[in-house]
Amino acid sequence: MTDNVNRLLVVDDEPGVVDFVGAVGRKLGYTAATSPTGAEFLRLVDSFRPTMIIMDLHLPDTDGVELLRQLVTRGCKANIVLMSGSDERVLATAHELGVSRGLAMCGTLSKPIVPADLQSKLAAVRHQDPEVDAPDLRRGIAAKEFVPYYQPKATLVQNGWVIDGVEALARWQHPRLGLVMPDEFIPLAERTGLIGDLTNAMLDAGLKQVRAWQDQGLRLTCSVNLAPSLVTDLSFPDRVAALLAENHLDASRLILEITETATMQNPTITMDILTRLRVKRIGLSLDDFGTGYSSLTQLYQMPFNEMKIDKSLVMNVPHSREANTMVSSLIELGHNLGLKICAEGVENRAALDMLAIIGCDSCQGFFISRPVPAADVPSFVSHWNQERAAASFTAFPRAVV
Ligand code: C2E
Ligand code: CA
Ligand code: CA
Repeated sequence: MTDNVNRLLVVDDEPGVVDFVGAVGRKLGYTAATSPTGAEFLRLVDSFRPTMIIMDLHLPDTDGVELLRQLVTRGCKANIVLMSGSDERVLATAHELGVSRGLAMCGTLSKPIVPADLQSKLAAVRHQDPEVDAPDLRRGIAAKEFVPYYQPKATLVQNGWVIDGVEALARWQHPRLGLVMPDEFIPLAERTGLIGDLTNAMLDAGLKQVRAWQDQGLRLTCSVNLAPSLVTDLSFPDRVAALLAENHLDASRLILEITETATMQNPTITMDILTRLRVKRIGLSLDDFGTGYSSLTQLYQMPFNEMKIDKSLVMNVPHSREANTMVSSLIELGHNLGLKICAEGVENRAALDMLAIIGCDSCQGFFISRPVPAADVPSFVSHWNQERAAASFTAFPRAVV
């Protein structure tokens, strides 16, 4: 397998098409492999491990729908674009089928392919070299270039969804690269041990901000993400408590979101730290539930008081009966364990309405608001909550990062 993190696999029996798509991919930094048949394609899926697949629906030995089924069986995580020269409705249906099976479908291309469409699809999911390294990260933390953006969190009350909290999501205001997203620096921060300093900066900024909003009459909770590697420091609960006291905030205003507790090296220490955080009444949320990183055992062994259902499940709620059943069952299970349930990835009105019907407690998602800078939060919250009071809920029109 190639070292390139962008690997494109094209399957089509028209040599002109595979050559063209492959060439465009290479120009955009992909390593490209091509196949004229379904059988060869599946061999390449296993050996080449593509990150992007562009697939014709019509192949000599099989068809695209059958290949999608095979990709599900293989647990394929690649982004997938379907192409076809026939009816666009068939393309759209095949795409939906892929979505409902949990594949990362990234749209369709009608033949003859418009080069600009192909380029934008390939560019959108390409992983770009973040060009950041450990010294730069250390410098950025010291220079206070990391700021939280805040994504509003809505809670279901009697007559609708009301914003009563935010999740702080790290953004790096890089002097040369502009706004850098967490996927580009969190793994590096974890590898280099700088995640502790970064998290302290987020906690500090988040709690100061909650205090400042409260002084303006806006009462919100703040959720902060905690890397599992940080739940090993026995002095952490006291440090967090001191930060809360410094800002004159009740501990229940802070929620710590944690993933992957199953892989934690020392479960006894983890349990000690999490229990002390809960004894202090700091909220504990099990993040990304339903992704395989989180397990049912943790739900009842560890003292969480909230479960966040991952967006990969929630996004499918409006159009997949299976996803709907899964989310409803998780809500019931969580409630039976005494947990509040938050659904992430609410991207449209239909999802929001269905979550209310199936008894979800709170939710977040682009339909409500994207993560926004602190300065945008008060006007958004008052706008949204007033709309609720008027019993007509519309999404906030602004869309920032
Ligand atoms: P997360 O904790 O699961 O945060 C939610 C991510 O989903 C955010 O991405 C958010 O922008 C995105 N999101 C929210 N609503 C929607 C939606 O409706 N649709 C879609 N497609 N996406 C939605 P973001 O900000 O890029 O953060 C990515 C991840 O980086 C976070 O996932 C979290 O795991 C990590 N992260 C961010 N800040 C920190 C931090 O301060 N510390 C640590 N340890 N991890 C952080
Ligand atoms: Ca989170
Ligand atoms: Ca999450």
